[in-house]
Amino acid sequence: MKVIKFGGSSLASATQLKKVLDIVKSDSERRFVVVSAPGKRNAEDNKVTDALIKYYKNYTNGENVTLDQEWIINRYQAMVDELGLTSNVIEKIAAAITELATLPIDGNDFLYDTFLAAGEDNNAKLIAEFFRKNGIAARYVHPKEAGIIVSSEPGNARILPSSYDKLEELRDSDEVLVIPGFFGVTAQGQICTFSRGGSDISGSIVAAGVKADLYENFTDVDGIFAAHPGVVENPHSIVELTYKEMRELAYAGFSVLHDEALLPAYRGKIPLVIKNTNNPEHPGTRISLEHSGAAVPVVGIAADDKFASINMTKYLMNREVGFGRKVLQILEELNIRWEHMPSGIDDLSIIIRERELTPIKEQEIISYLTRELGVDEVEIEHNLSIIMIVGENMKDHIGVTATATRALSDNHINLEMISQGSSEVSVMFVIKTEQEKEAVKALYNAFFSTND
Ligand code: ASP
Repeated sequence: MKVIKFGGSSLASATQLKKVLDIVKSDSERRFVVVSAPGKRNAEDNKVTDALIKYYKNYTNGENVTLDQEWIINRYQAMVDELGLTSNVIEKIAAAITELATLPIDGNDFLYDTFLAAGEDNNAKLIAEFFRKNGIAARYVHPKEAGIIVSSEPGNARILPSSYDKLEELRDSDEVLVIPGFFGVTAQGQICTFSRGGSDISGSIVAAGVKADLYENFTDVDGIFAAHPGVVENPHSIVELTYKEMRELAYAGFSVLHDEALLPAYRGKIPLVIKNTNNPEHPGTRISLEHSGAAVPVVGIAADDKFASINMTKYLMNREVGFGRKVLQILEELNIRWEHMPSGIDDLSIIIRERELTPIKEQEIISYLTRELGVDEVEIEHNLSIIMIVGENMKDHIGVTATATRALSDNHINLEMISQGSSEVSVMFVIKTEQEKEAVKALYNAFFSTND
């Protein structure tokens, strides 16, 4: 039995919805359908979720919201008309969208989430109706009925463990259940969304809850590419990945799947496949616990920019008990998250995302390290990128890092730092952002061009 999730671009128009219908119909195992809100129909278009944000802002600022309501209702109306659905559906959707502007504003911590969730909620109603009209015994199920109970953290909900037992009860349903993604309800019954793009998380939760054999995540690409297609020309798409590899790639900029979406599937040991609604015959990328066959040492190359490094040197640093703790303490006091900490005998670097820093925080760090910890040298370096070569099988191969560094040096790319975690799932290189693209190309050629 499969849980299938469709992203916004797969649900943006009647044409897309017909493809979705064919996909669901073609496999009777596809019994749970989790849906996003309608996405963009073309590059200039607006996502329904973004239109709902605008609607929310105008409503809470006391502005006239008629145009916002009309635009959103028209998005659904166009699909209802083209799919030949009854006016009953659009009436319900129009009422739901309009009623948002009657909800109390003051003291309503969940108002924003309630507005945003309306995008997926109404889409799920429309899709269930469309499926029924086309011979699928389908039923819309609200996350409350499904048992998707989440923490009270508006815009950043977390699933509560008790949800899984309740979800399991859906397993025996004879109907195809259409569940809106992106939100759950709190124990007090408030609508609360995951972070943006969170329908992927809902799909993963449902898959883990109903103990599906597979979580199919349909989007608009043929799976996950081994490198960014904007940087490398025609990179090949990855056939299989492990959860760990996916996590590493996602960390460094692979954004096909929401970061938090892997965890429920991983814990429930549910394999996941990323597929293309516009090319459903393509096998896509499968993500599971381990590789099924002999895997190459490196499965993908990811890069991400906007990093900074706090570099410090202190003679005999290694002899000083508690030095590292004191360095991290200042970061904690300034509420700064750190990412990596490569070190030498007398030097230590802390790599953080640029967004964690402000000029004032930088000053405080420098003066604390100089005055309180007596470091000999300290500097904060900006405009850094990290490049990760990822592959669980690299631990069984000798020379992976050598191949990478050779490729980088042959292309005159200066390495600022190298770091490899003990689990050997990836090797990370820190370089200047201006050389990021070149570095990705060089590494892709070194690891993949001969395998094509
Ligand atoms: N519609 C929501 C968003 O745009 C959630 C999703 O599509 O996954 O962020």
